[in-house]
Amino acid sequence: MDGPDSVNARLRQLPAVDLLVETAADGASVPRWALLAAARSVLDVARAGLLREPGTRRAPGAEDLAGRVRIRARGLCRPWPRRVLNATGVVLHTNLGRAPLSAEAAAAVAEAAVGYSDLELDLETGRRGSRLGVVRELLCRATGAEDALVVNNNAAAVLLALDALAADRDVLLSRGELVEIGGSFRVPEILGQSRARLVEVGTTNRTHLRDYRDAIGPRAGALLKVHRSNFEMRGFTHEAGLRELAVLAREHDLPLIEDRGSGTVVDLSAHGIPEPEVQRGLTDGADLVLFSGDKLLGGPQAGIALGRRDLIERMRTSQLARALRVDKMTLAALDVTLRILLDGRLESLPVLRMLLAPPAELEARAERLAKALSTRGFVCSVVKQASLVGGGALPDLRLPGFAVRVESQGSPAALARALRLGDPPVLVRVSQGALMLDPRTLTDDDASRVGEAFERGLFDQST
Ligand SMILES: *Cc1c(COP(=O)(O)O)cnc(C)c1O
Repeated sequence: MDGPDSVNARLRQLPAVDLLVETAADGASVPRWALLAAARSVLDVARAGLLREPGTRRAPGAEDLAGRVRIRARGLCRPWPRRVLNATGVVLHTNLGRAPLSAEAAAAVAEAAVGYSDLELDLETGRRGSRLGVVRELLCRATGAEDALVVNNNAAAVLLALDALAADRDVLLSRGELVEIGGSFRVPEILGQSRARLVEVGTTNRTHLRDYRDAIGPRAGALLKVHRSNFEMRGFTHEAGLRELAVLAREHDLPLIEDRGSGTVVDLSAHGIPEPEVQRGLTDGADLVLFSGDKLLGGPQAGIALGRRDLIERMRTSQLARALRVDKMTLAALDVTLRILLDGRLESLPVLRMLLAPPAELEARAERLAKALSTRGFVCSVVKQASLVGGGALPDLRLPGFAVRVESQGSPAALARALRLGDPPVLVRVSQGALMLDPRTLTDDDASRVGEAFERGLFDQST
């Protein structure tokens, strides 16, 4: 029988942490902190294994443990986040960091990061300057808004707007707009975090202007309209539009706030992207429009508020604004992104370049990728496939394009996993029993690395 004594005896066979670190360090150029952390966790796992199956397990040998420590320690030493190759075709992929920045914006971030800057200093007077000064001007210039404010992300902009403008008051919101965006942002919960009170109006599928009107009581503080970013409603539906809501808001002297989510300052409709510019919300009568910096705008993570000067001023001077403010790297990236948009150089923003890529260009890139994979022994073909905008934007829009369909000998899910765990990791879609690689979200340079990653992924899978 396997009593507690023999379990203890086996546990005692495990080396001490220091000894394990010494063994693992031999010949491995890995810093000591990582070896120590890795040794602790490898020993924890080994101990738990022995306790779980006391009858069958033997304590792993010293070399085996040291090997595990080295692998784990190397993993700890790898800078994070890791660059991955996105072959999913989803341009704004929240799990993959949303908008890739333009090279110019990235350079501005590096410049702002490594040195001192006039972030809050007016070089002319030598006095303290406004942190948002230039970016605020660019936002107003690009959109015609009276004033603008930038905070950490759009969730923060919504929180700040409601808290600063409707504390202890009712915020009226359609039941059809009680949305969840990506799990971490639920409109009712954000409202709950502010000092404003949510008053739901209408029904899930139909909300009329009169529903808002009936709900306006003495405690009314604001009307909120939330863009249903990530889903569409069809069938027996109705919603009150911004224009009619604006009339009602005016009558009752209430601010009308539009949470747009994803938006940009240029008109993309001529390019087949039916998303009105954010400033359209203001011309339609919203007093404030709120949107993200890293969705369609193609910039850094940020929450941007545009609109009436008095409302923006109340947000700006709120205590909460200080807690939600953006750092210099964000401002540097946003500044350059807005300048690119003002110049009309849409091609310089990766998000727009990918979204607006002509099908012929995508097909050519798919052909090159397919060729690179074929020469490595993969069976593949180029097929028509639409890609998605992602990032809670335009859920129904299918961007016409092409994909490389790669037949997998084993399970496609297993190959997809091997590619995800590869170096560099490659993210693909699995569809109809094959891997689908969408070249829209790969640069030519990325695409050439996919070939190598495939070779390694397959090799790892077969060993
Ligand atoms: C994406 C989105 C948000 C959240 O924006 P973050 O910048 O991710 O905080 C809020 N509201 C809407 C409508 C959105 O689409």
